[in-house]
Amino acid sequence: MAGDKAEEDLPDFDEDAAVGNGSGSAAGGRPEAHGGAGAISASGFRDFLLAPNLMQGIIDCGFEHPSEVQHACIPQAVLGTDVLCQAKSGMGKTAVFVLSCIQIIDLSLKEVRVLVLCHTRELAYQIEHEFLRLGKHVKELKVAAVYGGGTIEKDKEMLKSNCPHVLVGTPGRVLQLMKSGDLKLDHLTQFVVDECDRCLDELGLRKDIQGIFVKTPKKKQVMMFSATIQPDTRITAKKFMQNPHEITVESEAKLTLHGLQQYYIQLEEREKSKRLIDLLDQLEFNQVIIFVKSVKRALALDGLLQECKFPSMTLHPLPKAFAHKAAKGESTLGPEHDRIERLRQFKDFRKRILVTTDLFGRGMDVERVNIVISYDMPEDSDAYLHRVGRAGRFGTKGLAIAFCAGEKETEVLNKVQARFEVSIPQMPAQIDTSSYLNA
Ligand code: AMP
Repeated sequence: MAGDKAEEDLPDFDEDAAVGNGSGSAAGGRPEAHGGAGAISASGFRDFLLAPNLMQGIIDCGFEHPSEVQHACIPQAVLGTDVLCQAKSGMGKTAVFVLSCIQIIDLSLKEVRVLVLCHTRELAYQIEHEFLRLGKHVKELKVAAVYGGGTIEKDKEMLKSNCPHVLVGTPGRVLQLMKSGDLKLDHLTQFVVDECDRCLDELGLRKDIQGIFVKTPKKKQVMMFSATIQPDTRITAKKFMQNPHEITVESEAKLTLHGLQQYYIQLEEREKSKRLIDLLDQLEFNQVIIFVKSVKRALALDGLLQECKFPSMTLHPLPKAFAHKAAKGESTLGPEHDRIERLRQFKDFRKRILVTTDLFGRGMDVERVNIVISYDMPEDSDAYLHRVGRAGRFGTKGLAIAFCAGEKETEVLNKVQARFEVSIPQMPAQIDTSSYLNA
């Protein structure tokens, strides 16, 4: 299957991933966790004394037991305490704020009561859907998401005619709507930031978040979440909070996921495509995410895989100039919200391979993904940790493979091993399918 094409190098443009700056559902509950003993607490959700209609949503989602982080946070969060929570990827952080916000929200006013900020439109879309899924039986609850790319006029109209109780959004768009006077947060009671280190470490995003924060009522609950929160970021985050309930992992080294097998492959840059195709032929996967370092490389690699008849896609729309290369039925105009439609395709299992930049690296949850391949290593160990967390979600099994070509990529791999409690061996010729495929 490989063919000569695979031998060709991908273009190496240093164009940045088009992370939706200032602009921006999973299926049922997960199978029993394999590995990571203690990842799931035995006590039931009933102990949290949640409203019956919320419990019904939890049951519909197939959640049987709260995860460790849910156990550690929900009882405090429903009391209105501020929360600063660091916990492993994929262990149910979203449900912590979704459940506690729905539990305590006062729906009597037709105003935005809960604001959730995050760094990409894809994540905003996903969080919106988690609210809708878990809050399905809370009849009056209205949820909406706003992010760059989609037309702002639509957002304005929605806020005017059908104001949601829960608004999820990217900071730039939320601020824009506040400045135009269309979004009022005078009755806000919960202020949530997901992937808070990503949001607070980038100056532009932090400024937007501060701009929003100062325009909200003084008395409100603030909750922030991420798998990675450096000490400096923790200090910044706490400036937004009052006596927060803090959850930290006992040591950063423990952030790796136990159900996940991790390997590296040493190779030359020009060998990457051929090796990838061999792997895709050889491995058993439900869905795979392949990470590359730029949008252009994502488009090129996706094109190559499609030519080799793999069910591949990318989140990034083809630029107009490449319209002639579009697959049948593929949109090239790329209205920006097209990325959401593409995300939906992948989540709905209409495609099984997603080639993407780190745009998809954080927070994104697709239940069937069991393999993550870093075709290009990320810039740093944080990004690696978030990437591999896309497989092995909620304690399930998964496989992460990193291609290392050259010193720089090997250096990142060494940093990952030095920092986290994980040894990443060279990939053996054969691996046992049952080690990464859930039964
Ligand atoms: P998150 O870490 O928030 O992205 O969640 C990872 C996945 O686990 C999502 O698909 C959630 O719907 C799912 N999940 C969250 N909490 C539970 C639970 N208690 N039981 C089973 N699945 C869960």
